Amino acid sequence: MPECSYHKGVETGVSCVECGRYICPKDWVDTPVGYKCREHGLTKRPTLGGIKPRQYLTGAGAALGAGVALAVVLTFVPFMSFWVSILGGIGVAEATRRGSGGHRTWEFALMAAAGAAIGVGVAGVFGYLNFVALVLSPIAAAVYLVSNRF
Ligand SMILES: [Zn+2]
Ligand SMILES: [Zn+2]
Repeated sequence: MPECSYHKGVETGVSCVECGRYICPKDWVDTPVGYKCREHGLTKRPTLGGIKPRQYLTGAGAALGAGVALAVVLTFVPFMSFWVSILGGIGVAEATRRGSGGHRTWEFALMAAAGAAIGVGVAGVFGYLNFVALVLSPIAAAVYLVSNRF
């Protein structure tokens, strides 16, 4: 019998379905596709695993900046707010994704939606509150990020 790659002297017949290293009952994680080692069993959702704390900050910063930019655009283009809202929301989402280092997760989708909502809200403070944009932009931002994840 092969030896567990984490524990010397422990024999096992089970190997990780991703990397093939041998694992004993102390190490394996039971996943829908089979047993995985500690490393691969804990990163079932790779998009969630690789996010660094700094990327939350840059993602949030990008969401906020793009949200305010959207508010400025809406201030100057009050007509056609339906399309501007949707395109603006996608723009905010794209900025958030780039700011985060390319991640498309629920966290960043929420962040982009919040950035769009805050941006449109800021325009509201100056008397240009656009209700269409307030509803559509956050939805467009979130849908864009989540739907492109696959
Ligand atoms: Zn593995
Ligand atoms: Zn082991």
